[in-house]
Amino acid sequence: MAEQLYHFINGTRVNGTSGREGDVFNPATGEVQALCPYASAQEVDNAVQAALAAQPEWEATAAPRRAAVIFKFRELVMKHTDELAEIVGREHGKTIEDAKGSIQRGLDVTEFACGIPHLLKGELSTNVGGGIDTYSMREAVGVVGGITPFNFPVMIPCWMGVMAIACGNAFINKPSERDPGAPLFLAELWKEAGLPDGIWNVVNGDKEAVDALIEHPDVPAISFVGSTLVGEYVYQAGTARNKRVQSFCGAKNHLIVMPDADMDQTVDALMGSGYGSAGERCMAVSVAVPVGQDTADELVKRLEPRVRTLKIGPYNDPAADMGPLITAQAKERVEGYIDQGVAAGADLVVDGRGASLQGYEDGFFVGGTLFDNVTTDMSIYKDEIFGPVLSVARAESFDNAVEMVNGHEYANGVAIFTRDGDAARTFSDQVDVGMIGINVPIPVPMAFHHFGGSKRSKFGDTQMHGPQSINFFTKMKTISARWPSGIKEGAQFTMPTNR
Ligand code: NAD
Repeated sequence: MAEQLYHFINGTRVNGTSGREGDVFNPATGEVQALCPYASAQEVDNAVQAALAAQPEWEATAAPRRAAVIFKFRELVMKHTDELAEIVGREHGKTIEDAKGSIQRGLDVTEFACGIPHLLKGELSTNVGGGIDTYSMREAVGVVGGITPFNFPVMIPCWMGVMAIACGNAFINKPSERDPGAPLFLAELWKEAGLPDGIWNVVNGDKEAVDALIEHPDVPAISFVGSTLVGEYVYQAGTARNKRVQSFCGAKNHLIVMPDADMDQTVDALMGSGYGSAGERCMAVSVAVPVGQDTADELVKRLEPRVRTLKIGPYNDPAADMGPLITAQAKERVEGYIDQGVAAGADLVVDGRGASLQGYEDGFFVGGTLFDNVTTDMSIYKDEIFGPVLSVARAESFDNAVEMVNGHEYANGVAIFTRDGDAARTFSDQVDVGMIGINVPIPVPMAFHHFGGSKRSKFGDTQMHGPQSINFFTKMKTISARWPSGIKEGAQFTMPTNR
């Protein structure tokens, strides 16, 4: 019997009233395990009204006290990590250990947010002229909408939401309708941590709920993570309404293999970053670019047996390297890309189509897939497949590899494997990509640095987490004050200067 899910508004579970809902699957078995209500504009407005009512008092709460609540939330997430990982695995399909890693990455930002009293410090200049002191302070923007994707149902709500509320905002999470269980659980943990009702809300739904957030006059800021076309739409629709919007979007991450790279290390890196989480990561490596034919031949020779013996399994199989895809449509889409790659003339070295697991015949599994001799005009090279499909696109030279990276529309992450510091330095200078790894395959920066791509992988100019997230979630005020106030200079009709 499928569980009936709900929204979480003003500290309370609220049943959906729109009459619209969708299935949440267990991707390993293909069974419907829950029903997710899809919010109407009215239900989104209920959340906004709760957030608006609660936000001023939360913002007026001293930052160290806000930090104390966030600290408590961190303890609760740690205490409930097993339970959260189970929900993530059951709804998303990723393995338990992988789910735990992503929860830890959410905790990292939570820990960073505990330093909010320090992060919110403004600037002060004494006596900028005429006894005037100038200082700046940061204020919350108000109610923030956070639209999150299916692939990290704990990590990404934490990345955006914890920073938003640390700054004194109220947050409305519209998680993916494919796996809303973990985001709902997080909202319960916030309540237990002592966060005032109305500061962290979850409205479930689809485009209708997203549009309601974008169009709502009392939601001045939207943080989005998801695919490029949707993220671009959210960015354009939001900024057209004078909102601040940041959209972190799709990717096609290359890993350049130089002839001098440590091959064992490179192959391990490609296996983990290409096939971990079944390739459903925005920082997954989906293109390996060996430089030179010898490097390519050696790489493919070593990759083939590793990909062929990848172990797929349900999330709770401790021996599984990766789980299923999120939905039957995702499986069909990924297998469709494999068909296109074959039709376009790429060499299919390992074919993951038609994977079937005993006892899990209706699961959404695709096996590890490896293509060689992929060229830049093929759809399997151009598009984000978001599945366990690694393409080897051979480059004649280092310059050719850089050209490939810079010629792609996506620019989230990239990596180079080499022992040559000169090549690595030149590479990071020359590629126009947001996050670069040097002998690091998934260069997702730690919470105190910035996360974000470039080109069509990101819209908006602030990064996720790190100090820049404070810029996104606050407004700056700059105050010029003169004490004592009685200095008399007479009326000045010229532009004031400090000369
Ligand atoms: P998605 O774009 O389908 O959904 C993201 C969110 O937008 C969800 O909450 C969804 O309900 C909503 N949405 C979907 N269609 C919409 C529409 N037409 N109008 C308004 N809202 C809509 O993305 P997804 O499939 O959940 O996630 C996978 C994508 O997210 C991949 O492209 C991946 O690269 C990207 N991603 C990017 C990052 C990053 O930081 N750059 C991180 C994680 C995932």
